[in-house]
Amino acid sequence: MCGIVGISAENNVAAEIYDALLMLQHRGQDAAGISVCDQEDKLSKRKSMGYVRDVFQQRHMEKLIGNYGIGHVRYPTAGGNGKEFAQPMYVNSPYGISLAHNGNLTNAKQLSNELFHAEMRHLQTDSDSEVLLNIFAHELAKQREIYPDAKNIFKAVSKTHIRCDGAYAVIALITGHGLIAFRDNNGIRPLSIGIRKGKTRDEYVVASEDALFSSLGFSKLRDVDPGEAVFIDKNGQFFSQQCADNPQKRPCIFEYVYFSRPDSKIDEISVYKARMRMGAKLAEQINKTKPDHDIDVVIPIPDSSTIAAHQLAVSLNIPYREGFVKNRYIGRTFIMPYQEERKKSVRRKLNILEEEFHGKNVLLVDDSIVRGTTSKKIIEMARDAGAKKVYFASAAPPIKYQNLYGIDMPATSELIASNKTNSEVAEDISADWLIYQSLEDLIEAAKEGNPDILEFETSIFTGVYITPLIENYLEDLENTRKDELKIQREKSKASG
Ligand code: AMP
Repeated sequence: MCGIVGISAENNVAAEIYDALLMLQHRGQDAAGISVCDQEDKLSKRKSMGYVRDVFQQRHMEKLIGNYGIGHVRYPTAGGNGKEFAQPMYVNSPYGISLAHNGNLTNAKQLSNELFHAEMRHLQTDSDSEVLLNIFAHELAKQREIYPDAKNIFKAVSKTHIRCDGAYAVIALITGHGLIAFRDNNGIRPLSIGIRKGKTRDEYVVASEDALFSSLGFSKLRDVDPGEAVFIDKNGQFFSQQCADNPQKRPCIFEYVYFSRPDSKIDEISVYKARMRMGAKLAEQINKTKPDHDIDVVIPIPDSSTIAAHQLAVSLNIPYREGFVKNRYIGRTFIMPYQEERKKSVRRKLNILEEEFHGKNVLLVDDSIVRGTTSKKIIEMARDAGAKKVYFASAAPPIKYQNLYGIDMPATSELIASNKTNSEVAEDISADWLIYQSLEDLIEAAKEGNPDILEFETSIFTGVYITPLIENYLEDLENTRKDELKIQREKSKASG
């Protein structure tokens, strides 16, 4: 997953893009970058591996001069994770285009071949974002305009939509011309627009999440529609156009479960409220399936489950207690490359408050169970602390399938629920009882916030993918994501 932002204002924007990236840091901790352009059409950029605060020092910020620009935080999904994958990515023709992308193209390999063999464009990485950038650049170049206007740019976006499959929310900087932002025709990944009054013109922000708008003094204008593109020229003129033939809003439901900040609204649905409803629905299900339950206390696994867990406790009328204290400075365990490291780091990341467990029947709540590493370890910790019985609730349904749309999920074979029944998963993680949210309830919990959304992207639960897939795509992805194969590849790299 990644976070993207673009700002067009009267004065220098780099400091505000930096602040915006700090607020999007949860969407990617691997690399960060900023590109800005000034009124003399000079482009300045800085990108590197690491957290936002580590990538940008005072000396870098002083050189980032310009009144429109874009920023990116990266979390590797299908591609590699070296320096060359940091974004914004840049291509010099036409005009000099820098691009920040959140999502994943499922036909990147095929497009990369077309770019090289038919369109005289060579790519330097196997990043799908570089493919997307070059497709857009090629389509814009084909119009042969020295000074492209909104119409030319929207035409290039339309052509990009026709050629690209998968998920993409994009903000690109066209040197000397302005910012262009667009979203795939399902609107899988989020993208919102904010507006602020300047002295002589309106100023704009476009970003993955709107939580950052108010702290920068912007108010939300609206979300970018699926398939739509918005162009803010270098003087701050705003243009927008629907560029897809068949747009349909199908946002990724996992943004509400886990990814987005609770203070964001994604496609008009408050993430905070959606998580509360997830907790309430879990409580309803517990009352239905286990009316005589003997739960003494509800304990969240911090941080992403706390809102659902709290509402679950309120709805069940059972005490809610913080039983774990998180070390905020350790980073997310999930992104540790191998299973052994992941296991150790759960223990280092969460410290237990033993008194909250001793002699009690506890219901632990997490937002989701992926490999089962966290739940297994935490249940063990709860028992060591003297819990009598340990029940477990997941605010999301069983995750059984890979994610193709920009969320880093392991290979199917590494997902604990991929080929197990719920009671087998319970046994595997050593829970006395396990309850998963039903998909129906999860969809309802999200949809209640915006009944106009008829469908969500839910493939990790159903295995039904809403975009076309080229042959062998799933098998290839399965192979690149398997831990075993990752280790083999590293070993052969080291010896070769
Ligand atoms: P696991 O230990 O593999 O079962 O992972 C479950 C934990 O990872 C949960 O606590 C989630 O909050 C978190 N999680 C779920 N999906 C992701 C993801 N794509 N990236 C990072 N963490 C995740």
